[in-house]
Amino acid sequence: MKLHVTDDGWAAFWCPACNAAHRIPVEVMPLGTPHPGKGHGPWYWNGDVDLPTIWPSIRTWSTVWNESSQDWDEKMCHSQITDGKYYGYPDTHWLAGCVEPLPEWDGKVNE
Ligand SMILES: [Zn+2]
Repeated sequence: MKLHVTDDGWAAFWCPACNAAHRIPVEVMPLGTPHPGKGHGPWYWNGDVDLPTIWPSIRTWSTVWNESSQDWDEKMCHSQITDGKYYGYPDTHWLAGCVEPLPEWDGKVNE
């Protein structure tokens, strides 16, 4: 299981780029259903917790440790989750353009 979904419609996954959990509201929809756009309700999800596909893309911020400055940085994470994989957008802070399988969810976030 790569996606943890609670009864109130929140989904969490472990982001391989941020080494942190991201949580977003989701609604199950048939694949390919057009999303009304940014700011219009929950993300759409194919209903699969093992091979989740979520759309549109997820743009969020996370706090990442910077080894060289020995301080925390705010970084923008921009990804597409398709078939259980993280696709980094070119403007994401880390793994830009990379495809990384989402790790198995191990309950790191208490719900
Ligand atoms: Zn991330």
